[in-house]
Amino acid sequence: MPRRRIALHRFAVLLLVWSAAWLSLPVRAQESPTVRTPPPQQIEPPGNTPPPVAPTEVERYTLSHDRYEKAVRYSRAGYTLYFSAVFISLAVLVIVLQTGFVGRLRDFAERKTENRFLQGLIFIPLLIIILDLADLPIHLIWHALSLHYEQSVQHWGSWLLDWSKAELIDLAFLTLLAVLLFFVIGKSPRRWWFYFWLVVLPIILATFFLKPLIIDPVFFKYEPLAARQPELTNDLLRLTERAGLEIPREKMFLMRASEKTNELNAYVTGFGASKRVVIYDTLLQKMAPQETLFVFGHEAGHYVLNHIRNGFLFFSACLLAGLYVAYRLLNVAIERWGPLWKVYGPQDWAALAVLLLIIEALGFLSSPVVNGYSRVEEHQADVFGLEAIHGIVPNSSQVAAHAFQAMGENDLSDPNPPPFITFWLYTHPPLAERLVFAHSYDPWGKNQPARYIKEQK
Ligand SMILES: [Zn+2]
Repeated sequence: MPRRRIALHRFAVLLLVWSAAWLSLPVRAQESPTVRTPPPQQIEPPGNTPPPVAPTEVERYTLSHDRYEKAVRYSRAGYTLYFSAVFISLAVLVIVLQTGFVGRLRDFAERKTENRFLQGLIFIPLLIIILDLADLPIHLIWHALSLHYEQSVQHWGSWLLDWSKAELIDLAFLTLLAVLLFFVIGKSPRRWWFYFWLVVLPIILATFFLKPLIIDPVFFKYEPLAARQPELTNDLLRLTERAGLEIPREKMFLMRASEKTNELNAYVTGFGASKRVVIYDTLLQKMAPQETLFVFGHEAGHYVLNHIRNGFLFFSACLLAGLYVAYRLLNVAIERWGPLWKVYGPQDWAALAVLLLIIEALGFLSSPVVNGYSRVEEHQADVFGLEAIHGIVPNSSQVAAHAFQAMGENDLSDPNPPPFITFWLYTHPPLAERLVFAHSYDPWGKNQPARYIKEQK
């Protein structure tokens, strides 16, 4: 994701957050909690632009005293916000249930119309908007922090506009899903978890496919990389050919990230015909060309190793398990607290709030599994990137190490994240580890076979 969205909008949790995680796989060092729009940062001029080749060996991730303090403060604030966001979301759901608010909202929808479908179209969006407004303060704080730490350069008007657009997309998507869900629950109160899974998979697949075509352009401008950077595109094509890959030039895009963020990033997204590699323009502005090649090699790894497809399969399996658990817990919860909450059964629209509570909790608890899976793929992509540029750029390990150093400095990556935080939140291995690995990865010198790309001459 370009978006490092962990906190996202509610329901999203199971469906969107997870899929969002797979939709885009940034090379970024660490994921801070988030908001839907990626933060940005400093405009700290030339001193920050790395020289084409590192003047000194980069063996580990190091920051100046000032930058170190900032990186630690920014990261810790992010972790705190993330856990606060989860807690607030859960608490708000409990409160709207406990106070009978959800029941009254359902009564309101039922008074407006007899038609069950129309009731859903009143109840669902209202509930979603209320819950998302309750989450808004956390998003506002996060954006303020991103501005303060010069990670974002997006002014508030533009930010609010993005938030509203995302809100509308969520509303449409989630209302559709919820209506479907309740239709399926009505048809099969005991097996809905399985049938809904069957119904929702093609929808998620379509979302994967369409996201780069219709959703991403709502937030950022994209253009063919070849149009802006013909030379770089040729270099990238040479790199892919020599590595025996096929990524046609029409599949390479430049994203105008610098209008909103200072973040250095790139990602692979889409499915089938919409599959593509996207490079942030910030990357080209702030990184040496050889380092950009490494970042591209990493993304090529996601592309070639079919990480999007595998992620989708993994996600589908998790989703089935999650829906089954949700089905069981929903019945238990309604039996126990239904009378108090005025939720009269799984088919009651008000049960949506109970389901959201369950899904949100499950989404939170499954973070370590989902993120652990992601870290494995990210590591594979790092290995792939290192192998891809080997023999093409001189001193490739050093170039990669320097790329990580530049990224960490620029994006204020936590130099020393607590192990629990890495375990729970990190979609990528900590930057310091990636850098040390890049620096020391040398199967060629040790006469061992490379993992993905065999020696080509
Ligand atoms: Zn990646």
